[in-house]
Amino acid sequence: MSNQINEEALSVTGEIREQLKFYREIGLEDIGSAGATELATGADFTSMPHMEPQTADIETTARSNFEAGQPALFQEAFIPRNSPARQQRSILPIASDVSLEAVRENLGDCQRCKLHEHRRTIVFGEGNPRAKLVFVGEGPGAEEDATGRPFVGRAGQLLDKIIAAIGLKREDVYIANIVKCRPPGNRTPERDEVETCEPFLFRQIACIKPLVIVALGSPAFQCLLRTREPITRARGQWRDLNGIRLMPTFHPAFLLRSPDKKREVWEDMKKVRDYLNSK
Ligand code: URA
Repeated sequence: MSNQINEEALSVTGEIREQLKFYREIGLEDIGSAGATELATGADFTSMPHMEPQTADIETTARSNFEAGQPALFQEAFIPRNSPARQQRSILPIASDVSLEAVRENLGDCQRCKLHEHRRTIVFGEGNPRAKLVFVGEGPGAEEDATGRPFVGRAGQLLDKIIAAIGLKREDVYIANIVKCRPPGNRTPERDEVETCEPFLFRQIACIKPLVIVALGSPAFQCLLRTREPITRARGQWRDLNGIRLMPTFHPAFLLRSPDKKREVWEDMKKVRDYLNSK
């Protein structure tokens, strides 16, 4: 029993040490004074309206809404792939009322693109269904594929530290990817794979209705905003996705290779924190 307590204490101490090391790396030295208050304040994650689960086949509903000319928050996500309207890739700002459970149910045992052939698990996304902050990454890696959970490998541990640095816990936010199955060898998802999978991400966003989305890395940023602009140019600048503020920043996996870029991500995340705190 006391061994177990010792082990737990050691593990907590290790986590604190890692977090402090991260603070030093991003240049956040003085967490004992003003910073501590800011970090502890965090955002209020309790005031979003509760959304009841709804089990209707959302693909059918969305399709008939589209055919009837009725827009949804991310209408583009519901437009049939071969429709000319899809080419315009327009996204209209009106609310959708489906639940995350319904989106997951509709995804099913997805075999819509070739990524299903090598995946072990579909990584749908996880977190607070009423999160004010959503992180979007590229696609599951090996650990995510094995566990069915997004961002649980080394990049995920770094993302946890980034989340903690803005005064939040992983459970406060929602984390998802632009594709839900691991690309073989962790390659970048291909266009057809992204186009097949992204409607589910847009539906998730439409359900959650966050105040802010953080796009982690080029593929997420370019997919969400329909742009070819490189992340190096866009990072740190607020963008708009149908009335949702979007902050492009570097992917945590990139930060593992280029730790000096952590400070830039911290600059971007301070903007996110301050905006959420102002709401
Ligand atoms: N990288 C991503 O983009 N997503 C994950 O879920 C894990 C690593």
